Amino acid sequence: MHKNFKSIEKTVFGRGSFNQLDEIIAPKRVENNGFMVFIVDNYFKGKELEKRIPAKPEDMVLFIDVDPHEPTTEQIDALRDGILASKGLPSGLVGIGGGSIMDIAKALALMLTNEGSSTLYQGLNLIKKQGIYHVGIPTISGTGAECSMTAVLTGPEKKLGLKCEWTIFDQVILDSELTASVPVDKWFYTGMDTFIHCIESRDGILNNAYSMAYGEQSLKLCRDIFLGENAGQNPENDDKLMVASLMGGLSLTYSEVGVCHALSYGLGKVFGEKHCFANCLVFQHLGDYYPEGVKEFKVMLEKHHVELPTGLSNKWTDAEITEMATVAFNLAHMWNHAVGTDWKDKITVERIEGLYRRM
Ligand code: NAD
Ligand code: ZN
Repeated sequence: MHKNFKSIEKTVFGRGSFNQLDEIIAPKRVENNGFMVFIVDNYFKGKELEKRIPAKPEDMVLFIDVDPHEPTTEQIDALRDGILASKGLPSGLVGIGGGSIMDIAKALALMLTNEGSSTLYQGLNLIKKQGIYHVGIPTISGTGAECSMTAVLTGPEKKLGLKCEWTIFDQVILDSELTASVPVDKWFYTGMDTFIHCIESRDGILNNAYSMAYGEQSLKLCRDIFLGENAGQNPENDDKLMVASLMGGLSLTYSEVGVCHALSYGLGKVFGEKHCFANCLVFQHLGDYYPEGVKEFKVMLEKHHVELPTGLSNKWTDAEITEMATVAFNLAHMWNHAVGTDWKDKITVERIEGLYRRM
């Protein structure tokens, strides 16, 4: 069976396109209880962008600090309960921020119409009812969360997405002007998520002409941005990275991620390490699996004077390493793609522990 995927319904791309938000959401304001909810990265509180949010007096603008932890099921449930209790069902929801805010917006749009805790819906196609109209406006490029059909949440039992067709945004606004203020270290790590998506999508059994077309174009853009003559953060590259992020996401939608994301999930689950940084920590040690990709990654690290910590595993206990390796091992679909259908003959929890011990 070939995957049958839904795409984002509408996309605006261009510098300054954020200004079209008011007009874009206007027709939706008649739905449900006639108000909009804006979920905004706390970074923008008090910044110029706050004044540009087209909120009407009846709307809610909620600022969220994404730094303490990645989005959780508990956080989504509390936000949902708060919104419903104060004003009922919104007409729509607009997320303005990075991958964390994209996931919060997607999850919340679904949970506003689905009863019970979001922990009940972590997995594929468990959501029962279509969510409300939702718009994604990324302010940092790389994760591809703006186009994926999953909203990754950490729950008490598992770190797993609410994954279904209704998760996908109805509208995205890709305005790279919003990414100009991203600090250089976050720019690099999040950009590398795109690079790693493309390498992992390509170097595995599920790659195909469709995933390769998006992935190769995204890789070409990454090379311009991180290695080209005009490498670094500048308006032209901000445009390119926003498109590379989208295309990297589309590439892996039609293929799969691999070893790096499997191990990165382990680091996230056990130590709460952030997705993009965790990927970078892992990827530098995966030369056995992605020789070309890792070589290129190291050139990028050097070019941008990024030094990743090493010797981390000295501080980890055997139990922690086994726990991470077990989380990674259980991501069977990633190993199947990266290593092949006979992956269980080659990959064991002990082997994965060995990879963690390199860090
Ligand atoms: P993020 O949303 O966690 O933000 C990272 C940091 O950048 C934060 O400190 C934030 O305040 C700051 N920031 C964002 N925009 C900024 C701007 N314009 N100027 C200054 N600072 C800015 O970052 P992320 O790396 O984009 O997202 C990580 C999250 O995405 C994780 O929770 C991960 O699980 C999720 N993710 C989801 C998918 C998916 O398909 N749904 C894929 C990959 C990652
Ligand atoms: Zn990723």
